[in-house]
Amino acid sequence: MFGPGFRVCTVFGIPIKVDASWFIVFGLITWGQFQAYQGMREMAGRPEGNSLVMGIAAALLLFVSVLLHELGHCAVARAYGMRINGITLFILGGVAETADESPRPGVEFLVAVAGPLVSALLAGAFYALFRAREIAGYPLPPQITLVSETLAGANAALVVFNMLPGFPMDGGRVLRSVLWKATGSIYRATRVAAVIGRGFGMLFILAGLGLTVFTGGANFLMLSLVGLFLRFAAGASVHQLVVKRTLEGVQVSFFMETHADTVNPDLSLENFIDDHLYVSLHRCYPVVAEGFLEGVILSQFVEAIPADRRAAMRVRDVMDENLILWTIHPDTDAIRAYARMLATGRPRLIVTRDEEVVGVLSLEDMVRFMDLKARMEL
Ligand SMILES: [Zn+2]
Repeated sequence: MFGPGFRVCTVFGIPIKVDASWFIVFGLITWGQFQAYQGMREMAGRPEGNSLVMGIAAALLLFVSVLLHELGHCAVARAYGMRINGITLFILGGVAETADESPRPGVEFLVAVAGPLVSALLAGAFYALFRAREIAGYPLPPQITLVSETLAGANAALVVFNMLPGFPMDGGRVLRSVLWKATGSIYRATRVAAVIGRGFGMLFILAGLGLTVFTGGANFLMLSLVGLFLRFAAGASVHQLVVKRTLEGVQVSFFMETHADTVNPDLSLENFIDDHLYVSLHRCYPVVAEGFLEGVILSQFVEAIPADRRAAMRVRDVMDENLILWTIHPDTDAIRAYARMLATGRPRLIVTRDEEVVGVLSLEDMVRFMDLKARMEL
């Protein structure tokens, strides 16, 4: 979902990364806090104090707050034996990526509420600092009071936003765990929670645009951006779930077609079109001589050759000989093969063992399998 991000540190063995978009948040908070403190200083007629330091302090504390929220999710996930890939902070907060899905609805519920619970505790703690004078009769310096007020509000906002009942927000995960428990199907539960997540996304997009038009303030475009992200993430979440649940533990050899149509490198393009392309209608074929892979021929390469020249040219002349991205080992995890096909735009991969062709893997077959299995079993 994100770019590589900057790895800033490791906490309890969990790598913490920051996406470039987080710096927008950092800048906005620093600036907002800077202005607020400047205003307060002018009102109080006090020239001392460094407003910029206040701004940066608030931004750093927000960073720590979001991080603690995510660590809350991670702590519970780990307690139930789930492995954590890492935490990424980005423009809309943070995400903790787990290598494993929740084993059952109860665990999903606890993992989901742990983050907002941490944020609620932080909001309470910062509120107590903000109201230290009233609560403990001990007034804190105005710098601390102001930053505490900001952080109390920000953490409270994190709770409210995250508890909206649409996937992939925490509230959506809570909803999913409840539906999962009720229906016994994580697939159906995720689909419902994701539809609601997409609904919230659409609502945010429209509200952001509407408010921007009516108020003329560009601040509300941020809300539309949140909405766009939600819509995208909700859609992707169902897909990810299906991929993980249906392909987990399956190897390439399970899907590969072992009697795949292969092409001889010395065949003329005209014959290739008549005997292979028009017959099996694939977009690419392994070019094989004596059992060994020599290249891959793509229909689009052949299309580019003028029709009157096709009889004189051979498959060897137009095939792709750069085989690294075309070949895959039969023992490879199907999930990895699938990800590679999507990333490289290759509809088929040639399955080879010691350079010998043992089969062909088709993206279409995998997609059909996942769809069928999801509807049958999830
Ligand atoms: Zn969360």
